[in-house]
Amino acid sequence: MRKPIIVGNWKLNKTIAETLSFIADIELKLHDHADFGVAVPYLALSAAVGAAKHLIISAQNMAFAEHGAYTGEVSVGMLKEVGVKWVVIGHSERRQYFGETDATVNQKVLLAIQHGVTPIVCVGETLAQFDLNQTENVVRTQTAAALSGLTAEQVAHLVIAYEPVWAIGTGKNATKENAQETCAIIRSEVEEHFGRATSEKVRIQYGGSVKPENIQEYLAQPDIDGALIGGASLKVDSFTAIIDALKA
Ligand code: PGA
Repeated sequence: MRKPIIVGNWKLNKTIAETLSFIADIELKLHDHADFGVAVPYLALSAAVGAAKHLIISAQNMAFAEHGAYTGEVSVGMLKEVGVKWVVIGHSERRQYFGETDATVNQKVLLAIQHGVTPIVCVGETLAQFDLNQTENVVRTQTAAALSGLTAEQVAHLVIAYEPVWAIGTGKNATKENAQETCAIIRSEVEEHFGRATSEKVRIQYGGSVKPENIQEYLAQPDIDGALIGGASLKVDSFTAIIDALKA
C-alpha cells in the first residue's frame, strides 16, 4: 500500500513571515493518513524547517552541480544543511523559463539522491503535445531520462509528479481518467527499467489545478498516489480542505 503524498508548491510566493504563519496554522490540521509537505522559496527554507514538526519541507529546485562557478544557484549540500527533506526537480516552469532539460533533470536527481534528499521529479506534456497524442511518448522519454543511472532501490523511494503543462495554473485539470492513464504509463515505464517491485513502490502524483473539490477523485485512481498542488496550496483554508479530504 503506497502512502499518499500531498505537496504544496508555492512557486514565487510567500515571505518568511508568511511562511511561518502558514505553517503554524497548518501544523494543527495534519494527520497521518498521508505525507504532507510544502515546497517553499529558498529564502524561507531554513525558517520553515525550524517551524515544521510534521509538515515536510521541500525545495522547489536545486543546482545541477555541487559547487563551482554557477552564480545564483543553490546546491543540494546547502539544502541538506538547513534540513530540507525533499526537492522538486524538473517542474515544467523550470523547463519552460529556465532552460531545464532532461539531462539537467537527471543530473539533479542523481545528486539529490546521493545527498539523501528525496526528489519529486516532474514530467508532463505541453498542450501541443497533448493535442498531437504525444503524451505517452513524452512522459516515457522524460521518465526514462530523469531516472537514468539510478538503482531500483533508489527509484522505489523517490516521487514522480505527472503534471500536464496545459493543466498547471489554468483551472483546466486533466480528467481523472486521463490522469490515471498517464500515471499508469509512467508506472509501466518504471517497471520496464527497474522491475515490477520498484514500479509498485514508487509514488506517482498528479498535478495541475488540483483543489479541494477534485482531490478525492484523483486519489481514488489506482495509479495516483498523491498530488502536487500550486494555487490551492497558498491559502490556509484551501490547503486545510485538501488535508481534511484525505481523512475520509
Ligand atoms: P496548480 O499548479 O495547482 O496551480 O495548477 C500545480 C503545479 O505547478 O505544481
